[in-house]
Amino acid sequence: LSIVDRLSAPHRGPIPFSVEFMPPRDAEGEERLWRTVRTFERLGPAFVSMTYGAGGSTRDRTVRITGQLASQTTLLPVAHLTAVNHSIDELRSLVGAYAAQGITNILALRGDPPGDPLGEWVRHPRGLTYAEELVRLIRDLGDFHVGVASFPEGHHRAPDLEQDTRALVDKLRAGAEYSITQVFFDVEHYLRLRDRLAAADSEQAAKPLIPGIMPITSLASVRKMVSLSGSVIPVDVEARLAAAAGTGDQEDRAAVRAVGIDLATEWAQRLIAEGAPCLHFCSLNFAKASTEVLARLGVDITSAVPVVAG
Ligand code: FAD
Repeated sequence: LSIVDRLSAPHRGPIPFSVEFMPPRDAEGEERLWRTVRTFERLGPAFVSMTYGAGGSTRDRTVRITGQLASQTTLLPVAHLTAVNHSIDELRSLVGAYAAQGITNILALRGDPPGDPLGEWVRHPRGLTYAEELVRLIRDLGDFHVGVASFPEGHHRAPDLEQDTRALVDKLRAGAEYSITQVFFDVEHYLRLRDRLAAADSEQAAKPLIPGIMPITSLASVRKMVSLSGSVIPVDVEARLAAAAGTGDQEDRAAVRAVGIDLATEWAQRLIAEGAPCLHFCSLNFAKASTEVLARLGVDITSAVPVVAG
């Protein structure tokens, strides 16, 4: 089943939603991840995705857990895959390992240099340079459904937004069926990317542009995240969060969280009004903040009946 098919299937609430998980670091983290997975499973996300880390042991765990999502839950998993430190042969066998576990939805990414996401990109000597090449590689390997990343504020390495939009169009033309955006904190950035895409290639612009959304629960964490990704917290958003955080040594986490949930709900409502195809929640392996936003949007989060994936 493809993500595109899934997005057009019936869903609860005003818009389909999806959830991003990340590989847990240890057994305790894995337990928490599974509690979160089960919470979301009851709410019927269109799909869930699992990010792909840079280190060897995390990578093995990622492949295993993504397989378990496919075999032990009703969820439709998307496996992220990056070209970092992989030869083409290794990428081929990873795709094969996913296929063997019944996973045919893959998010094709270049990835960032390990250790320093803003550092110099060094291609594996027998590897790939751009995500577009990974899209082609996966498509050549069989009947896979491939998605890619998109960047409403432009990718931090792109010289300008025009070139970044061209790179996205190239990935879609290479066979990607949809893209998921980097998290943003101003819906205008998403809408402008959608406009740029429509102006660049109307056929590719018809493919789902899925907005990444993250309820902010800590001002310190979001500042750090932004410094690593090259995106920006708008002045008004920063002001609301800073007012909630207070002036003490420690930020007032409960107050920041409340504002973070208000903000995410406002972004989601605007995205729904603007016809976004899905809301992709970056959960950081926690369910509470995202489910609170979903409840505010009118999704019945008290229902205990799992929605069976088609
Ligand atoms: P690309 O599309 O290859 O783009 C990389 C840069 O090259 C861009 O600046 C682009 O404009 C430019 N470019 C592309 N093609 C060309 C070309 N032909 N000629 C010249 N320039 C070109 N990282 C992880 O490590 N693991 C994950 O699981 C993960 N998941 C992510 C999920 C989402 C939704 C997003 C938005 C990002 C994710 N990332 C992940 C981060 C991502 O890997 C980095 O942002 C990375 O720097 C860019 O990846 P990409 O696939 O967009 O690369």
